[in-house]
Amino acid sequence: MDVSKRRILLKVIVLGDSGVGKTSLMNQYVHKKFNQQYKATIGADFVTKELHIDDKLVTLQIWDTAGQERFQSLGSAFYRGADCCVLVFDVNTLKTFNTLNHWRKEFLKQADAFDPNTFPFVLIGNKIDKEGGRSRVVCERKAREWCATMGNIPYFETSAKEDYNVDDAFLGAAKSALASEHPYDIFLSSVSETVAETQQRGGCAC
Ligand code: GDP
Ligand code: MG
Repeated sequence: MDVSKRRILLKVIVLGDSGVGKTSLMNQYVHKKFNQQYKATIGADFVTKELHIDDKLVTLQIWDTAGQERFQSLGSAFYRGADCCVLVFDVNTLKTFNTLNHWRKEFLKQADAFDPNTFPFVLIGNKIDKEGGRSRVVCERKAREWCATMGNIPYFETSAKEDYNVDDAFLGAAKSALASEHPYDIFLSSVSETVAETQQRGGCAC
């Protein structure tokens, strides 16, 4: 098997207080859409996006909550096999910044196999567009300080509404996952190859 024909699957989970813009960031990143209305629930567990990083073909599988973060009841399937955890807060709401420690600890507890010092986290400060920045209460320096104390977590300031820095933030998440020592899944990239191989084995190709 030609190794270059393989692609990498990265499971990225997005965590943070309800209302910070997690679903909006994902919608903007994957569908290039922004919805002003508040929708706490989405239908699917995850969305996927393909990207090339260096010579690698990477599929990001991005998991969003369906609003359960309000009740602290995210099941173990949500955390299982995560390759990167994206923490999101709203730069206009101090409480969402102060709960980052909680979300980080919760992730490390639920996905308990991980070494807290090496597992790749990424921090996003979202809604930087709001009121032209006048309602902002968490400055960039403060956010970067928190990242530094947590082992130099990469930090991105975004606006899901205006599609500012959203691609870079998820690219940063993918790069952090690839650079980490945590093992990720590699699978075949070409359907025709998969079919041929399956036929060789005499199995079903569907
Ligand atoms: P979630 O609960 O973390 O998934 O947050 P949502 O994505 O549902 O967003 C909550 C609310 O914030 C919605 O009304 C969004 O339209 C709004 N919102 C999300 N991102 C942004 C942003 O970058 N700028 C502004 N101004 N509003 C945003
Ligand atoms: Mg949501």
